[in-house]
Amino acid sequence: MNTVYLCLGGNIGNTRAIFKKAIEQIESGIGRCVLKSRLYTTEPWGFEAEQLFLNLVVVVETELEPHAILELCQQTEAELGRTRSGKGYQPRTIDIDILFIDNQIINLPDLKVPHPLLHLRNFVLQPMCDVAPQLVHPLLKKTMAELRDECADEGGCRVV
Ligand code: AMP
Repeated sequence: MNTVYLCLGGNIGNTRAIFKKAIEQIESGIGRCVLKSRLYTTEPWGFEAEQLFLNLVVVVETELEPHAILELCQQTEAELGRTRSGKGYQPRTIDIDILFIDNQIINLPDLKVPHPLLHLRNFVLQPMCDVAPQLVHPLLKKTMAELRDECADEGGCRVV
């Protein structure tokens, strides 16, 4: 059994309802959701958008292999209406990133774990600190609390 940390984000439509559906799909396809962070409202990262983002981290126990987890996440994104219509960062119904799978290190073209940008993003580190402040990043060798305290991201990120 592995523990996977997923970050949900979205800023289009009824994001709370979409997250609820996403968690149902995660539980039926990936495994039991054992912990959820608080819900955060965050400023868009990397592009301008009028609508603020909501972000949430969920901790899931799973027996699936990493690529099967990725597939299920992408299927959930697709089913909940995400369109990949352009280049770069865009507003989206839902985005699901795999942050960690226990302390595994995966560096494949289509799957990088730990997620390569997580330590640069308040909207990931803040909710990660709700669920696992002492979790050590297997490459950076620092806890989530340390990474959050050091993070230079100035994007606003508040508990809803
Ligand atoms: P994005 O459009 O930002 O959601 O990126 C999705 C792409 O990132 C997909 O093609 C995935 O194969 C790839 N990817 C690589 N590592 C990860 C990860 N840890 N979690 C989610 N997607 C990933």
